[in-house]
Amino acid sequence: MVSSAPFFVPVRFDSRFASCYKQYETIIRGPACAFTEKREEFFTMQYRKMGNTGVEVSALGFGCMRMPVLEGQPDNCIDEARAIGMIRHAIDSGVNYIDTAYFYHHEASEPLVGKALLDGYREKVNLATKMPVYAVEKEEDFDFFLNNQLERLQTDHIDFYLMHALSLDSWKNKVLKFDLLTKAQKARAEGKIRYLGFSFHDNEAAFLEILNGFDGWDFCQIQMNYIDVENQATLRGLEAAHKKGLGVVIMEPLLGGKLANLSPQVKNTLDSSRTPVEWALDFLWNRPEVSVVLSGMGSEEMVEQNLEYASRSSIGMLDAAQLEMLANTRSVYQKMALVPCTGCAYCMPCPFGLDIPGIYEIYNQTVNDTRAVTVQKYASLAKQADACRACRKCEGICPQHIESSTLMPVIHEKICGMKAGVA
Ligand code: SF4
Ligand code: SF4
Repeated sequence: MVSSAPFFVPVRFDSRFASCYKQYETIIRGPACAFTEKREEFFTMQYRKMGNTGVEVSALGFGCMRMPVLEGQPDNCIDEARAIGMIRHAIDSGVNYIDTAYFYHHEASEPLVGKALLDGYREKVNLATKMPVYAVEKEEDFDFFLNNQLERLQTDHIDFYLMHALSLDSWKNKVLKFDLLTKAQKARAEGKIRYLGFSFHDNEAAFLEILNGFDGWDFCQIQMNYIDVENQATLRGLEAAHKKGLGVVIMEPLLGGKLANLSPQVKNTLDSSRTPVEWALDFLWNRPEVSVVLSGMGSEEMVEQNLEYASRSSIGMLDAAQLEMLANTRSVYQKMALVPCTGCAYCMPCPFGLDIPGIYEIYNQTVNDTRAVTVQKYASLAKQADACRACRKCEGICPQHIESSTLMPVIHEKICGMKAGVA
């Protein structure tokens, strides 16, 4: 069995050397990596408790669902050299939690992570992946998927294994119906998985039912950011999970990137001493219930920036005035929000050729763009929103429960109305 050291701090991050390096030269062992550079400062990764597991996880986790893809290629054509370089650089800088899933990048994420963790990197991290619950049609599927994942990831065990994207419906009609928890406990007893959890997309009541419906949960993964405090699992769900001793992994800390690219009206509500990204991440790191914040890092710059922010993180880092400022930002944001699409692309492909997240992006940007820009962006789409045939294939799988069959005709009408105004 591969050594499963749960907690690894690279030598250069030994606390004896904290913050004392100047002109530090980063040398990356990964292939074709863009990280060889002089660094003026040295950032020390912070670690936090993963619930009652006894494992210490890095404050920042590497989410492998938005890795760079080759130019002009589809989502499953990951730019391997860049992605492997980024993952290894993050690990060399103290990140010890790597998160992937069966369907990320149309099934290309797990094999890529498997390659990234060769050459001794596997032993340095806690590896998390997810059972694709929505694809399970019979009990035996659990073993089929898990064994396939172990092969793709080139490992003999998963450290943190999750039931993916549970809702009340999939909890009842997949997990309980096909007795997946018994299967998972057997896999845990066999050493194929170490800790068992679930990721979640539904409402507070559903979260509490799933949380309290099984005594064997070690951790959970929820969508949380300073906008979603009353959405999905809610802050009350976060607190309940922590109280039960679960580690809590945070996803969508930037709401699919929206909190990094705020409209000027929303951005102006934030104190400029931090970037919008840092405010969003600090809101989470401030809370004692949060174990690890996942960031789906898509570029080298993003990795560097997040490493720096994580190095400054601590529980209780924000004061009452700063929390009040973020509450005000939330209220301004919510007044301007149109469609809560995070761009995750779970709904793709649309059988009728619509770029669903692309259309929502154009629509949401209407609060910032001029009418002419909106009309020009919309005209450049291969298929416009009126091509929607209301098949609703995209709706059951959307973690944000967006009803595209209803929204698409409305969006088309509104943008066509703008076109008339522009002309
Ligand atoms: S409801 Fe519309 S947008 Fe959704 S999959 Fe069907 S045709 Fe595509
Ligand atoms: S519509 Fe839903 S599933 Fe599709 S990209 Fe947006 S949030 Fe994701």
